[in-house]
Amino acid sequence: MSDPMSRGAAERKSTRKRQLPVRYSEDNEYETKATAKTNEKREENRLQKEIDQLKSENDDIVGKNETMIALQKEMETERDEFKRKGEEMRLNTQIIMEELRASKTRIPDLQKEFQEKCNLHKAESAKLKKMTNELLQLKNNVDPEHEDKNEREKIENLKKCPYCRGYFTNESVAPLVLKCGHLLCKRCCIVDYEQNGSIFCIGCQNAEPIANVEEIDAFPICHSILSIM
Ligand SMILES: [Zn+2]
Ligand SMILES: [Zn+2]
Repeated sequence: MSDPMSRGAAERKSTRKRQLPVRYSEDNEYETKATAKTNEKREENRLQKEIDQLKSENDDIVGKNETMIALQKEMETERDEFKRKGEEMRLNTQIIMEELRASKTRIPDLQKEFQEKCNLHKAESAKLKKMTNELLQLKNNVDPEHEDKNEREKIENLKKCPYCRGYFTNESVAPLVLKCGHLLCKRCCIVDYEQNGSIFCIGCQNAEPIANVEEIDAFPICHSILSIM
């Protein structure tokens, strides 16, 4: 079965072993043992180194793992904070939306209320104005001084031409009596005739046409007015 060559080699080896002297054999055994021990020690050192390496790697991994756990925790905290803020924002938005909806329904009510108040104010203002006028009227009725003033004003107005507001005189601003019975100064009569061919009476709000300037000369002068000047 085994090949003849290797069997031959084995035989040669055993033959040589047999031929070794005893002392040499012991030495050889001792050497073998020492070599084995050295190898063992070397192996042990190698294993120790490997163990140290593995330990160091393990420490590294443990360190990294701790860092990762810390990071994870940090991330979880941040995520919780984010979540909390999100929820807060959602609630705030909800509140704002509700307030907005409420104010939307309130606006027409407020507008209506405002309009009502405006109307009330207007009515009160009108009432107040009316009352003030009534009071003023009452005051005028009971205040003789005021009555005198009114009378004086009326008389003063009679002394003036109703159109140019100039005081009547004997000459160019003479108080002429128009056909309707109202007064107008001579100067205004001439100007009106020259510009429009008619004379406009303020009292009647009517323009009376005249043919020539002699018609103006024919208007009588109101001596009663001149007598109170
Ligand atoms: Zn006049
Ligand atoms: Zn008139």
